[in-house]
Amino acid sequence: MTTIFKKIIERDISAEILYEDDDIICIHDKFPQAPIHILIITKKIIPNIQELKVEDMHLLPKIFAKAQELASQFGVQDGYRILTNNGPSAGQTVLHLHFHLLGGKVLGGKGG
Ligand code: AMP
Repeated sequence: MTTIFKKIIERDISAEILYEDDDIICIHDKFPQAPIHILIITKKIIPNIQELKVEDMHLLPKIFAKAQELASQFGVQDGYRILTNNGPSAGQTVLHLHFHLLGGKVLGGKGG
């Protein structure tokens, strides 16, 4: 099984990569919903947060720490949103765990 994000990780398709290590990759979203719209993606294909197993939960603090860093790097540390969509009815279109970091404008309601 592969995903569009796996293809980015493997450099089969291009993306604007901001950061990468053994566990995560951070890219600019191709279709930004805010002036700052970054995706923090696990390198391991985990379909979504509901499928995250205990053995992979160590990835979460790493993801949030990187979100803090990126928020500061892009100057939105005083106002940003981190979200992850779980399942198609929540708007998930890529079944590969990722967190959206959104900022740079006044963000609207939480429910979408
Ligand atoms: P979600 O809908 O929560 O699964 O988020 C998937 C996100 O991936 C969307 O915000 C898309 O705009 C974004 N996306 C899809 N294809 C690409 C791509 N090739 N490069 C960067 N972001 C992408």
